Amino acid sequence: MAEFLSDIEIAQQAKMEVINNIADKIEIPDQYVENYGKYKAKIDYRYLQNELKDNDEAKLILVTAINPTPAGEGKTTTTIGLGDSLSSLGKKTIIALREPSLGPVFGVKGGAAGGGYAQVVPMEDINLHFTGDFHAIGAANNLLAAMIDNHIHQGNELDIDTRRIVWRRAVDMNDRQLRHIVDGLGGKTEGVTREDGFDITVASEVMAVFCLSNDIIELKEKLSHIIVAYNRKGEPVTAGQLKAHGAMAALLKDALKPNLVQTLEGTPAFIHGGPFANIAHGCNSVIATRMASKIAEYTVTEAGFGADLGAEKFIDIKCRTTGLRPSAVVIVATVKALKYNGGVAKADLGAENLEALEKGLPNLLKHVENITQVFKLPAVVAINKFPTDTEAELNLIKDRCRELGVNVALSEVWGKGSQGGKELAEEVLRLSEKESNVEFAYELDIPIKDKIKAIATKLYGAETVEFSPKASKEIANFEKLGFGNLPICMAKNQYSLTDDPKILGRPTGFKITIRDITISAGAGFLVALTGDIMKMPGLPKVPAAENIDVDVDGKIKGLF
Ligand code: ADP
Ligand code: MG
Repeated sequence: MAEFLSDIEIAQQAKMEVINNIADKIEIPDQYVENYGKYKAKIDYRYLQNELKDNDEAKLILVTAINPTPAGEGKTTTTIGLGDSLSSLGKKTIIALREPSLGPVFGVKGGAAGGGYAQVVPMEDINLHFTGDFHAIGAANNLLAAMIDNHIHQGNELDIDTRRIVWRRAVDMNDRQLRHIVDGLGGKTEGVTREDGFDITVASEVMAVFCLSNDIIELKEKLSHIIVAYNRKGEPVTAGQLKAHGAMAALLKDALKPNLVQTLEGTPAFIHGGPFANIAHGCNSVIATRMASKIAEYTVTEAGFGADLGAEKFIDIKCRTTGLRPSAVVIVATVKALKYNGGVAKADLGAENLEALEKGLPNLLKHVENITQVFKLPAVVAINKFPTDTEAELNLIKDRCRELGVNVALSEVWGKGSQGGKELAEEVLRLSEKESNVEFAYELDIPIKDKIKAIATKLYGAETVEFSPKASKEIANFEKLGFGNLPICMAKNQYSLTDDPKILGRPTGFKITIRDITISAGAGFLVALTGDIMKMPGLPKVPAAENIDVDVDGKIKGLF
């Protein structure tokens, strides 16, 4: 679309405030502001511990979406735009988002700092290793890996079964070459030869632990519970037994401080942590969300993928374990994505097609039902307007929602910034007026299989759940080991409500198959795997990296 400026062009035209002015605006005392250049700062978590502890919490607004499609939905864009709109209505608002991973930035997705006139800046820095948090997380992950292999090399006092080491190495890059490796080659003095592999840093359990810890002491405690291997009796071996957790936490002490940046319109945003939304819970750090909500009146945050995965985990894992409570939920939908759900091929999404749109709508309605009927939270559909959408298409979504009593607002923040999000912001203010009492999809004290069934039947609309013999065996084992009370982190493809990514819309009467189940004992959840979930993605045929460049002044281009 040549007539529109690209995201990076808009971002580079922005007049940014020095970050200390943004910190001043929300009254963060200077002593807690650690500058990373002029436009980024880390905020010491001791501010939260020492001074904010007893403050009331802001109204927390969760932005989620229908099932993702190749057309893009615009959750981050909507989160940022809504934040700006609330600010422009005079509400003290802070946005809380995930940090982008270098994997997708250089792969297919490009930037992940919003889009159009709803962006966080400096977008180049945010997208390109920012303040180094992910490298610190990778280093902590790899310190643990080195200590495991060293322990074995030095005599293996813990009797680690080298065929049952579950801890992998990590790097923040899409690099399929490292998925399966053999290391420790070269003879007796060069380590123990074994099969190994790398995951992308965002898939490391250290990332999940980092994002679910309320402070550095809890971080250390959770790190110590990470299961790295099993001994030859079949008992878990933890990072704590290897005495690795203290040094890991030491590596993370600065990373754990939330990063403060600003939107194009000067709204403060914390961008901090970024776990996968399939094998992990998919939202920014608890410390950042909590710091934001202790300072602001309104905190707007995003959960990864669609509401079936991201919002479910946000509520059943993050909110449950931390006490954070959303006041209202925004469900982002687009005309294109609904047409895609109604069967239109990606190449034809630009053309008006009311019939397909109507056919795709049930997907949206299922997500609305999940939020309002399962979690009992007020919801509003935000139609994220694209330049190709026609009036008839936009009206069709609005009319159908209204007929069914579903709140709906048009969002034009991509094209117009805060001005384009007034209708949505006003609706959010109205919805978050009332007390809301979130309900969880399942209770923790029921059997593991029943928790998985509750998620699959209530939220996905499945008829039954089948467990592979391996999954059943692991479940029995985890219950025996005393992990039966943990919440469930579903690892399902994001595109479909089923476990088959090709089945779009709102399917019914289907079966979900749980292939395997693993534990993240540090993060505190069980991961139920419905299919093969890639923990180390690869680059596509034409990686986004081919278009990224930097000039003599250090100005970056090609980041979308
Ligand atoms: P998500 O968070 O759901 O993955 P993003 O907000 O990151 O989605 O948006 C993905 C891409 O789509 C971005 O490049 C953004 O510029 C683009 N985009 C989002 N909303 C719109 C819109 N209304 N019109 C055109 N492009 C948009
Ligand atoms: Mg996003």
